Amino acid sequence: MPNEVTRRELMRSITAGGLFLAGTMTPLSSALAQTREAVRGPQKQTPVTRAPATLANEKVAQPARELSILRKTGVLVVGGGPAGTAAALSARRLGVDVTLVERYGYLGGLATGGLVLAIFPLYDKNNRQVILGIGEEMMQRLDKIKFGIIERGKAPVYPTVDAEAFKYVLAEMILEADIHPYLNCWGVDAIIDAQGAVSGAVFESKSGRQAIIADVVVDASGDGDIYAAAGAPFEKVIDSIGLVSRIGNVDIEDLSGENFEHQTGTRTQSKGARPTRGAPIPVLQGNVGSPTPAPGVNWLNMKGPVADALDVAEVSMLELRHRRALWNNLERARKRPGAENAFMAETAPQMGVRLSRLLDGVRKLTMKDAKAGTKFKDVIGYSGDYVTPAFQIPYSCLVPSKLENLLAAGRCVSADFELADTLRLIPICWVTGQAAGIAAAISIQDKCKPRQVDVAKLQRILRQQGAYLE
Ligand SMILES: Cc1cc2nc3c(=O)[nH]c(=O)nc-3n(C[C@H](O)[C@H](O)[C@H](O)COP(=O)(O)OP(=O)(O)OC[C@H]3O[C@@H](n4cnc5c(N)ncnc54)[C@H](O)[C@@H]3O)c2cc1C
Repeated sequence: MPNEVTRRELMRSITAGGLFLAGTMTPLSSALAQTREAVRGPQKQTPVTRAPATLANEKVAQPARELSILRKTGVLVVGGGPAGTAAALSARRLGVDVTLVERYGYLGGLATGGLVLAIFPLYDKNNRQVILGIGEEMMQRLDKIKFGIIERGKAPVYPTVDAEAFKYVLAEMILEADIHPYLNCWGVDAIIDAQGAVSGAVFESKSGRQAIIADVVVDASGDGDIYAAAGAPFEKVIDSIGLVSRIGNVDIEDLSGENFEHQTGTRTQSKGARPTRGAPIPVLQGNVGSPTPAPGVNWLNMKGPVADALDVAEVSMLELRHRRALWNNLERARKRPGAENAFMAETAPQMGVRLSRLLDGVRKLTMKDAKAGTKFKDVIGYSGDYVTPAFQIPYSCLVPSKLENLLAAGRCVSADFELADTLRLIPICWVTGQAAGIAAAISIQDKCKPRQVDVAKLQRILRQQGAYLE
């Protein structure tokens, strides 16, 4: 609302005795009218044509209707997780207009809202940090915040972040970069032009169903929601879905229990099999997890049973069962010396979905490639050492095999299921996000399709932006 006038501004202008609002050509009479709408109370309503769904013969139909255009932009990034924030920032640094849409009211995706606090893998076998760039900038900002991040610069130990500090850092970076954010805004459809290319996306929010027109879309939703809606081929996969929590007022820690994953300061992963689909949630034995940057607060990472992240009924039931199990675990934990007065500091606001859709890309990166150390001409970065030694990531696994004007970034890129379990880790999502953002910007500036982007230029800009490509 560019002409909105606050009461204070209005009083200032009246005191100055002007007939026009100070510093503007807005007549006072119209400013006064606007002021009426700026204070609390009933508002004038703009008439809207409603087109509700209809029910007839047991069939629900939604009539076709024109959508208002919320914004026209250069790069539209859908999803504000690790990949989406990196993509938005890297694209914006090339001077293009960037819009970032996120379904929740904060940024960071699973790294903040999922309470996934350990950032790994960052290092190669020589304990050299091989993931730098925008992700490293985020961590450097966290370094400056008291209780923002611990275990930094201590390879092979991995850093652990504070989720609230991380949300703050991301808000700062996005605001400073002058990126246009739409939060609490859910991408529900793709917009396709007459040639079949993606030209934006449709969103639902409290403002209703609206469209954003874009030159290039980066699907960083984690679940490939936009490329699926646009008709790009993908593979649907199911995986474990956990619910991470933070427990306060503890001065003990543990790493045991088959339901654990990586905890602070360790690369070890529990060896127990993941609970299968529909299996009961394994009973935690009063586990308290490991330290976070906040004093006396631990985090409890977890795997959880396999479930279909795209099935709302299944994940709803699972989330409630997780919450019950976490509370029961807390009560058991309170019987342990050192955790007698433990309290539930937070259960993650969003469930821990690992994988749901994997793009069918120009290249499908495979575990075989990773193990063989395959080199790619279109390399955009490295993974750190994890299940395999650090491997190269090619640009072509972000590019759909069939769809134009869209790139994928983060955990929904093109990979086989085995390797996707590594590619989905936060630092690697930073790598694919940063590259997708740069490529999207180049495609606008060079007036080419994302699949035709000059790879040497992409690599040069990645290096200029601090990324590690050797
Ligand atoms: C339980 C668990 C433990 C893990 N442990 C670790 C670990 O220890 N270390 C590590 O590095 N990684 C870990 N991971 C993996 C890592 O957290 C995620 O894979 C990573 O955050 C993925 O980043 P992303 O940006 O691709 O997706 P996400 O983090 O999922 O972000 C996607 C964003 O898009 C938004 N979004 C989704 N759909 C829409 C839509 N339709 N419209 C608008 N916005 C949308 C979401 O709200 C979210 O903010 C773990 C994951 C889980 C689930």
